[in-house]
Amino acid sequence: MIKLCKKCLYPITHPLGITFDENQICSGCQIHNEKFYLDWDSKLNKLHSIAKEYKKLGNKYDCIIPVTGGNESFFITYFVKYVLKLKPLCVTYNSLYSSDVGHKNLATLRRVFNVDINIYIPSREQVIALTKASLYKINSIYWHVHAGYTSFPLHVAIRNNVPLIIWGGNESTEQVGMYSHSDYVEMSRRYRNNHHLMGFELDDLENFDPSISKFNNQIYKYPNYKLIRQKNIRGIYLSNFIPWNQKDQHEFVMKKFQYKVSNFKSTFNGYEHPHCSFYNGIHDWLKYLKHGYGRLLDHLVREIRWNRITTEEAINYIKFFKPNYPKKNIKLFCEFIDIKENAMKFIIKNAKNKSFFSKKDYGDISLIYKKISELSNEKDHNSLSKINDSYFPKEEYYFENNLKNYSTFKPGYNSNEN
Ligand SMILES: [Zn+2]
Repeated sequence: MIKLCKKCLYPITHPLGITFDENQICSGCQIHNEKFYLDWDSKLNKLHSIAKEYKKLGNKYDCIIPVTGGNESFFITYFVKYVLKLKPLCVTYNSLYSSDVGHKNLATLRRVFNVDINIYIPSREQVIALTKASLYKINSIYWHVHAGYTSFPLHVAIRNNVPLIIWGGNESTEQVGMYSHSDYVEMSRRYRNNHHLMGFELDDLENFDPSISKFNNQIYKYPNYKLIRQKNIRGIYLSNFIPWNQKDQHEFVMKKFQYKVSNFKSTFNGYEHPHCSFYNGIHDWLKYLKHGYGRLLDHLVREIRWNRITTEEAINYIKFFKPNYPKKNIKLFCEFIDIKENAMKFIIKNAKNKSFFSKKDYGDISLIYKKISELSNEKDHNSLSKINDSYFPKEEYYFENNLKNYSTFKPGYNSNEN
């Protein structure tokens, strides 16, 4: 029996762990409510004091910001430069999954904020080997992206003696309320392992496929405790100091800093991962098969908690965006990692967690989405009439796909292409 939060619709089976109170409201909703009543002015003052402390060190850079060309990159950089008045060194792990929008956004970020960016670009051969290993072992194409994104900034911090790393939102707090905002949790090896790496470290992948040890995989490893301690490196989350509000933040950087977005079939939220060619396609599909829900629900949960849409409207979204096998995206991914589509179909079939899908024929509708749909009496499942279209980014913020020079992935990964 799948239990859903009465307010936000998250299932009790959420992979990060969630609890329900006696009214069947989840821990994520409870902790989100802190955004409405905590003393955020004093939290911001606390952040200013931390910033001051690091500015006093007088280093060439006051802090490090991990950026991607999407997600939270623009807002964090804006906040650090113009509100905290720190001089950041931006750091990017180039996953090779970057879309045209991602490349353009990163170039824009460097220009509009006038920042230095330290970029790590692995070879295609290495990325393919790591991706295949994580795909076979844990049904994930994103392991190397998370591993690189969360450890490369630490390596740069150590190398450049910049002890402060500033991250955006803490997902465990934001999604499932694992911590209070007043716990001020910081990035740790343990959190990275549990949350970002799904419990699998580089060593696990190397044991699974020893051939990947031939690459220089150091940047995928968290630096050792001794080094981190010696250099006093810490990673703080902005979401513990200001009420984290992705939609407003993205709309702000779209208007002010030329941040561009994309249109996706699987969700209304085109502003969060426009930089990645595979996030809202095959990656989200694998998540859906493993956990019975996709990013669409994650996005709706936030909108409900901010009272921007009602639970009823969210149910209609779930009905409208019927889960669809992302055929085109999977084809593109197969070309990229050089694997036959049939082999990929086999992997995808095996990734499906049977406890979230009935043997009865509901197509690709998971038991969680089926249960959510049944909460509404709305008959016309194809109707968007109950959906507020202000949730789709406005036309002017889409990126015109005519700047091929920005792309290193497509075309260009295959030398036969232009
Ligand atoms: Zn909830």
